[in-house]
Amino acid sequence: MPELPEVETIRQYLDTCLSGCSVARVRLARSDLRFPFPQGFAERLTGARIIGVSRRAKYLLIACEKEGRKIVWLVHLGMSGRILWRAGEHSGEHSGEHSGEQGLGINHRHVCVDMKMANGDSGVLCYDDARRFGFMDLCNGDAMENDCQRLQKLGIEPLSNLFNGEWLWRSVICAICNRRNSGGRSIKDILMDQGYVAGLGNIYVTEGLWHARIHPMRAVKDINLDDCERITRDIRKVLRKAIEAGGSSLKDYRRGDGSTGYFQLKLRAYGRTNEDCLRKGCDGKINKIIIGGRSSYFCSNVAK
Ligand SMILES: [Zn+2]
Repeated sequence: MPELPEVETIRQYLDTCLSGCSVARVRLARSDLRFPFPQGFAERLTGARIIGVSRRAKYLLIACEKEGRKIVWLVHLGMSGRILWRAGEHSGEHSGEHSGEQGLGINHRHVCVDMKMANGDSGVLCYDDARRFGFMDLCNGDAMENDCQRLQKLGIEPLSNLFNGEWLWRSVICAICNRRNSGGRSIKDILMDQGYVAGLGNIYVTEGLWHARIHPMRAVKDINLDDCERITRDIRKVLRKAIEAGGSSLKDYRRGDGSTGYFQLKLRAYGRTNEDCLRKGCDGKINKIIIGGRSSYFCSNVAK
């Protein structure tokens, strides 16, 4: 599943390739992904000029302009969605035999959207999604936060300056502990809650907590300000490292340019059940537990 660093990597890539392009043609191979495409999706995007690509949590927000109006084309990659771009491709018709697109590593059975771009950097953009957990939407760009309900309840961005120890301590930990019977929630559960922090997934929370030497099951009431400083600092550090490396490698995900060699971030805890802890001087082993249906990993020397 593409996590935040992958989405940020693809955002940077698409922003470079697509800004200034105009959508010449949109073809949908099906009427829905996880949800139906919005009404008039192809018509509304055709002729739009792409201004830039930003990101909110794991949503790609492709800002477009058409007839003086701003449209935001929202893309969520779900579990296996991939956006593949090939510059200068003169693909008249889309077909399984098209040799140019085979070079992108596209599995044509899974192509859901294909687009032709014109002006500036012309090319072909494909979205494929084997498991179809991704989705797309169009929002009114002038009233983005109002118009797009999916973005309304999202918490703060873990890569923004707002995500710091003071914030986690005051606005989250203390606030939760002041509510009756909620101090028992685990720190991992809180960090995965999109209403607090938007876009953080299992791998990076697990890694961040390992770096911060915090047991994922530690109850919120047992977390102090110093822990909050380490947690936010270390989560940001792992995210930044992964973005620098182009996102961690995941089986069904490829870089936006279609390259297969995706950098594997060196994971310290995630997936390392029973292996030695990699912290210097630590003789612990990595243990695995299931929290909320997801695997969590931590060093056996870290107290709950
Ligand atoms: Zn250790």
